[in-house]
Amino acid sequence: MSSSETTAAGAGTDTSRAGTVRLDHVTHRYGRGGETFTAVGPVDLTVPAGEFLALVGASGCGKSTLLRLIAGFERPTHGSVLVSGAAPRPGETAGVVFQTPRLFPWRTVRGNIDLALRYAGVDRARRPERRAELLARVGLEGTEERRVWEISGGQQQRVAIARALAAENPLLLLDEPFAALDALTRERLQEDLRRVTERTGRTAVFVTHSADEAVFLGSRIVVLTRSPGTVALDLPITLPRGGVDSEELRGSREFAELRAQVSHAVKAAAAA
Ligand code: ADP
Ligand code: MG
Repeated sequence: MSSSETTAAGAGTDTSRAGTVRLDHVTHRYGRGGETFTAVGPVDLTVPAGEFLALVGASGCGKSTLLRLIAGFERPTHGSVLVSGAAPRPGETAGVVFQTPRLFPWRTVRGNIDLALRYAGVDRARRPERRAELLARVGLEGTEERRVWEISGGQQQRVAIARALAAENPLLLLDEPFAALDALTRERLQEDLRRVTERTGRTAVFVTHSADEAVFLGSRIVVLTRSPGTVALDLPITLPRGGVDSEELRGSREFAELRAQVSHAVKAAAAA
């Protein structure tokens, strides 16, 4: 099958374009022999370049598994995963942000970012400028010399996002990155993340179990059924974004309706 062929979900999408994700009949099973467990699938899904896909579903439905398949950390048992038209390569295909920041705690913020820049092949001479740019983008100016254990959980997650942006790959994968944060910090980071992805035009796949977070962030929402996760709902989000105040957006009737719709879909999909 040629990579330019399209699926219903991605009609007209050039799937070889940088940042495009394409899953064809993807199923993933854990275990061997008689002791296998199907965690996801079959899933057919095309994420066009530049889209912000919020992937929602109950705990255990296979969201993290799907993200790991897209990152190339695992190969699907059946079906194929293509990113930018090629099989994903772990550590190269996408910037990944996990639920906990997974930083080097004994290093400074500078040390953590510079390591990512080094891996990304950025010359030593260019690193200070790139680092300053990345830290500004996530609102961490002036923290370069702080050690990871000296900054807050929200700041640590910002470092993790900056690190994921360091490689400049066109795809960002985030696995419930704000779940452990307090509500205020979470809302701030959601706003900042939206701004960053809008500015950089990257594709994002963001896993969450929060309908609220999905509606606020997503340009499209996919709800998974309970395990083995398949697509239960595929919903484009057409809320006005540009120039709209976040508080206003969150307080709008459209926002409340979408949140209720997604929340219902998640509960129905988990029970089905
Ligand atoms: P979610 O992120 O939606 O909570 P996961 O993708 O983590 O779901 O897990 C989906 C299912 O697969 C769960 O039942 C989980 O226990 C199982 N699972 C996840 N990772 C493994 C693994 N490495 N080995 C065996 N089972 C796994
Ligand atoms: Mg998970």
